Amino acid sequence: MKRKVIIIGSGPAGLTAAIYAARANLEPLVFEGTQPGGQLTITTDVENYPGFPNGITGPDMMEEFRKQAQRFGAECLFKTVDKVDFSERPYKVWTDSNEYSAEAIIISTGATARLLGLESESELMGHGVSACATCDGFFFRDKKVLVVGGGDSAMEEATFLTKFASEVVLIHRRDEFRASKIMIDRAMVNSKISVEYNSNVDDIIGTKETGVTAVRLKDTISGAKRDVVCDGIFMAIGHKPNTKLFSGSIDLDNAGYIITNSDTTYTNLEGVFACGDVQDHVYRQAVTAAGTGCMAAIDAERWLEQETE
Ligand code: NAP
Repeated sequence: MKRKVIIIGSGPAGLTAAIYAARANLEPLVFEGTQPGGQLTITTDVENYPGFPNGITGPDMMEEFRKQAQRFGAECLFKTVDKVDFSERPYKVWTDSNEYSAEAIIISTGATARLLGLESESELMGHGVSACATCDGFFFRDKKVLVVGGGDSAMEEATFLTKFASEVVLIHRRDEFRASKIMIDRAMVNSKISVEYNSNVDDIIGTKETGVTAVRLKDTISGAKRDVVCDGIFMAIGHKPNTKLFSGSIDLDNAGYIITNSDTTYTNLEGVFACGDVQDHVYRQAVTAAGTGCMAAIDAERWLEQETE
């Protein structure tokens, strides 16, 4: 069935686009994807979204977003788009072998956690290696864990993990953090957190049966290697945009983010709009993602209007 608008992705950007598109009577169809609600569903308390002075959990907030979109007629499907054809209009998208088409498409597929790329990391993922403290922190009660990274995510994850772990060691490849001062300060006053600077993870030691038992660090200056005994390791080294599906169909920048025209959500394709982390590698906040989701719905609505004139 042909739709006016299909929204691919269901984080703050996609669901805000859904609220606006639904209120404009565009009856949007939202494909929620592999992580309904997006990255916020694996984050800790959201303390910086305006309107929630006492904070709110990520999953609760995204449930509220979804309800608000559905209230105005958005249809949310817990399905993942696995193919698109933007070569002619109406544009087509597929989930499994089901075909859907729409005049306008809003892409809000977000970004995914980066990993180090070590063989041992993928082998032990879910067996002591994690990229989500909120999801897996609970399993490390009274254990020692490492957190890799020097940005806000690393500070946030390390601080969060102290709720469970007895000891948290931040592993950073430089001698200076990239994170904001407030996040660094919050982590550094926590007596459970210590830091290993100028260190890269060389290998993760353990088996699926034992879980992680140690992590081999390599000093970035001397090259010396040493093993740190621990029970788990959390990757907090940034994110990559979820644009594999669109490569070849839409203009991406060198880092793989969708390129949007300045001050709008227009992409290089007529009627295809992008919002949220999939096109923003600078701000990457829930509130900015929601803002661009609103922009995408308004851009799509005005573009559709002008198309039917
Ligand atoms: P980020 O700012 O890009 O930081 C990534 C960190 O991982 C950097 O310290 C980087 O080291 C390190 N890193 C990257 N690749 C690595 C590798 N292969 N091996 C070892 N270390 C590696 O990412 P982020 O911390 O996820 O933050 C992303 C954005 O979200 C930022 O704008 C941040 O402010 C925002 N954020 C905000 C909050 C909050 O305010 N509550 C929470 C989380 C994130 P280098 O420093 O050496 O490059």
